[in-house]
Amino acid sequence: MNSIGLLIEFNDGRVKEANFGMATAARGENRNLVALVADGPAEDAQAVLEAYGVARIVNIRSGNRSWDPARQAAAVAAAMQKLEIDSLIGLTSPSGRELLPRIAARLGAPLIMDCIDIDLEAHRVRTSQYSGKTIATIALTGSHFIYGMRANVVPALKEPAEAEIIDFSFDGYQDTGYEVIETRTDGSGAHYLAEADIIISGGRGLKRAENFKLLFDCARHMNASVGASRVAVDNGWVPYAMQVGQTGVKVNPKVYMAVGISGSVQHFAGMKTARMIIAINTDENAAIMANCDYFAVGDLFEILPELEKALAAAKRSKEVA
Ligand SMILES: Cc1cc2nc3c(=O)[nH]c(=O)nc-3n(C[C@H](O)[C@H](O)[C@H](O)COP(=O)(O)OP(=O)(O)OC[C@H]3O[C@@H](n4cnc5c(N)ncnc54)[C@H](O)[C@@H]3O)c2cc1C
Repeated sequence: MNSIGLLIEFNDGRVKEANFGMATAARGENRNLVALVADGPAEDAQAVLEAYGVARIVNIRSGNRSWDPARQAAAVAAAMQKLEIDSLIGLTSPSGRELLPRIAARLGAPLIMDCIDIDLEAHRVRTSQYSGKTIATIALTGSHFIYGMRANVVPALKEPAEAEIIDFSFDGYQDTGYEVIETRTDGSGAHYLAEADIIISGGRGLKRAENFKLLFDCARHMNASVGASRVAVDNGWVPYAMQVGQTGVKVNPKVYMAVGISGSVQHFAGMKTARMIIAINTDENAAIMANCDYFAVGDLFEILPELEKALAAAKRSKEVA
């Protein structure tokens, strides 16, 4: 049996949904899925991880008193060596970007981030390059392999298993001089944009910061996240964490709504893999209109309040039913 490690991430104490697609992608004949939970609630996660085929959960205690990716990465690398796990898949998320390169460096392993397809037998991956203009197929060689997977590229499918939990305490950390002094959030909730199923984004057409409330009001009823174009970010209307595109977050949701966004190539580079694209724009000739599944030609300031009312009504009738 080949052991495949899954680096599990949590959001408010619950396993992130994007981990389930990752587990689905990792399953295969003669494979043991091993969930690596670093300083997280391993026992609480047991039931959901079992539902997606995880056979072993490693409860890693890195000795972290606060979030310290250097120490946590060292602990995960040590657990992989002890448990003879050669391949590790994590998410291409803010936390994954902190941990996976450090784990790879510790193991002297090749690392590919933002994989859209992983062949764990041939150690071959597909990943987009040059702002999504090309897809590269890359073959890895070595004794360990670290993969950062793009969220939502594989639909999560259940396959129940029984998982044992084993504890792994790490005390071999050599101080590297790296210290996290403070962690701040911008309160936008946009940190998980790349993992959202539904995104509603605004651009220059929103005209000012306060008008983003129109998007947040609609998002609330759809359990959606709010994104933005670079113009909205550069104007200081919303934080950078909300920027979608070539120099922002690459997203892969089921539904992407572009509101008052023209659809530049740079914006498209970050959202073109969305399964459904809907545009709202006053200009029927805007580039986004030719590259979406549905569009509404009209003023967002008239359309969004109506949309919000319709979404609220739909949510109410669903709750009553
Ligand atoms: C190297 C580089 C990297 C870049 N990276 C990114 C990136 O990561 N992400 C990104 O988004 N951009 C990026 N850009 C910028 C990009 O080229 C565009 O300038 C930007 O995407 C345009 O943003 P926008 O669509 O909001 O604005 P605009 O192109 O000005 O479009 C605004 C749209 O709103 C519509 N509109 C106006 N009023 C209304 C209304 N009342 N109701 C409905 N619609 C209305 C207009 O018809 C128009 O189509 C990058 C550029 C460069 C050079």
